[in-house]
Amino acid sequence: MSESVTKPRILTRQVNIGGVSVGGDAPVRVQSMTTTKTGDVEATLTQIRELATAGAEIVRVTVNDDAAADALPKIIAETKIPLVADIHYQHTLALRAIDAGIAKLRINPGNIGSKDNIKEVVKAASDAGVPIRIGVNKGSLHKRYKDMEPVAAIIQSATDELELFDQLNFKDVLVSLKSSEPMEVIQACRQWAKISDVPQHLGVTEAGTLLAGTSRSVAAMSVLLAEGIGDTIRISLAADPVEEVNAAFHMLQALGLRDGFARVVACPTCGRAEVDVVALAAKVEKLAKDLPSDKVVAVMGCIVNGPGEAKAADLGIAAGKSKVAIYRKGELLCSIDKADLDRVLMEEIERLK
Ligand code: SF4
Repeated sequence: MSESVTKPRILTRQVNIGGVSVGGDAPVRVQSMTTTKTGDVEATLTQIRELATAGAEIVRVTVNDDAAADALPKIIAETKIPLVADIHYQHTLALRAIDAGIAKLRINPGNIGSKDNIKEVVKAASDAGVPIRIGVNKGSLHKRYKDMEPVAAIIQSATDELELFDQLNFKDVLVSLKSSEPMEVIQACRQWAKISDVPQHLGVTEAGTLLAGTSRSVAAMSVLLAEGIGDTIRISLAADPVEEVNAAFHMLQALGLRDGFARVVACPTCGRAEVDVVALAAKVEKLAKDLPSDKVVAVMGCIVNGPGEAKAADLGIAAGKSKVAIYRKGELLCSIDKADLDRVLMEEIERLK
């Protein structure tokens, strides 16, 4: 991995979430959230397993009704990675999630209700050793902040909530300061890092579909992470949540903060291409998923830049008019007929494992 150009991490207070450390000198943790009805135990467990296989380290599930709360003990019993209960409106569901053995709560200060409700939840969380994330969203701020400028309102909401937690001597806490505007997320999280050592979960809320949502999330998070800010992340997408995890690792790997996947270098393709680079690169990306993260596979559409890039990779292909050149660690291995490309690629990728 190339030398990191990011600033040193800003050390926050460390929190333990069901055996996974977050904050302090722990790696930036990757989270996602299920999209199933939590009450549907089988569907939720299937998705949690898919997310865990993709590399998610913490998974959030909504606990929005009695069916979800009823399902929690069964889901927790069958799940190896820490689960977070996402709670809005009904603080009693938070109490039920704690009883069920949840690893962490996420509550929204804008809608969780009275101070007494919060006190009750904090007391139960404290007794059970369950950390709480104060999840502030610009879109659901309490009405008392409505006349404030958005970033100031987000910070003030988190500060007020944290003050109450402090009064209750509850320190096992994280915050998230979210907006659907990446620039507001950057401003809010930067300001927070200056005034508090409470670990931050980063996210751009309602970021959008796969491409737009990834781009908007990465725009905000990469700035913050490069400044050493951020202890856990979620790239929220209107897409399969496995894509959230994939995108998060690609971003963290690009910033030198985590190992991710073997890198597939693919030329952007142009009129010179002698093979369908787009289809081939997608196929190679799937095949290369299980390779060690330091491996590089290059898929190049022609001989202009092809041989140079292909030579620099652990495995490279550069397509010519009738033949395709295969390189292994810089050495030309062979030239094959295009008809044999799929088979040879598969064999060579297996060899890199
Ligand atoms: S490697 Fe060849 S096909 Fe790919 S973008 Fe460059 S010139 Fe075009």
